[in-house]
Amino acid sequence: MKTHTTTQRIAIVTGGGSGIGLAIAEKFVQASILTIIIGRDQKKLGAAQKQLGDLCEPVCQDLDDLAAIPGLIDQLVHRHGHIDILVNNAGINMKKEFTDVTDEDFERILHTNLRSVFTVSREVVRTMLPRGKGHIINISSMAAQYGIPKVIAYTASKSAVEGMTKAMAVELSPKGILVNCIAPGFIATDMSSKALDGDAERKQKVFSRTPMGRLGDPGDIGDAALFLASEQAKYVTGVILPVDGGNSVGF
Ligand code: NDP
Repeated sequence: MKTHTTTQRIAIVTGGGSGIGLAIAEKFVQASILTIIIGRDQKKLGAAQKQLGDLCEPVCQDLDDLAAIPGLIDQLVHRHGHIDILVNNAGINMKKEFTDVTDEDFERILHTNLRSVFTVSREVVRTMLPRGKGHIINISSMAAQYGIPKVIAYTASKSAVEGMTKAMAVELSPKGILVNCIAPGFIATDMSSKALDGDAERKQKVFSRTPMGRLGDPGDIGDAALFLASEQAKYVTGVILPVDGGNSVGF
């Protein structure tokens, strides 16, 4: 890993080994930000590190293990001195009829998409407060903008992430920590292909209400995250930013 100075900006991108998280990590690395990517799949993380180079540090950790999170953040701060940016991107989805969703299904999605976001954020914010600065960027979904059938737990989790963004923003912005959220539209990744491939009706619905007429590129979300983490966004906090080709306002 590259050695760095105290002015080196440090970011954590959860789920940074693939899809949108990888694209965010790539934009950060291109902007000379040392970027720690966290995921569960060592192979995926290794490939991402190889692709992104010395400014990318892979960390294999299942964020569902809430008890391990304080120690992990402590270790990272010990190693790097501080954290400037946290992107809560790791997430899972599940498509099932409302009445088929078990309590365990519901809990599993909420656990990864909401509870671990809270725990990681709390631990990182604790380290940001003494410095009086930092950026938290949460990732929600169109599922929190309007109703999408067959994703009840995912919708509940992402709606809660948006609510948490606003609550965090009002409490933490006076202390120098800016908290924002990106609501991606339909972006070409493994997650969206699982949800759309083999469901022609849903795919058609997505395209018909997306004025730009195509899926987004993971890099589009990376650009938005880089902006929200930049000096140019220094008066932006508590925002839910759709990056969606117009999908959220589509007819
Ligand atoms: P991917 O499935 O490609 O990526 C999800 C990432 O999350 C993976 O890198 C995965 O890592 C990581 N992850 C999942 N669970 C855990 C866990 N318990 N601990 C650590 N890491 C975990 O999906 P996308 O890139 O499409 O999605 C990224 C985010 O964007 C998600 O929050 C998703 O809800 C959101 N989103 C995506 C949209 C899309 O159209 N693609 C639209 C709207 C929102 P690993 O496999 O190593 O565990």
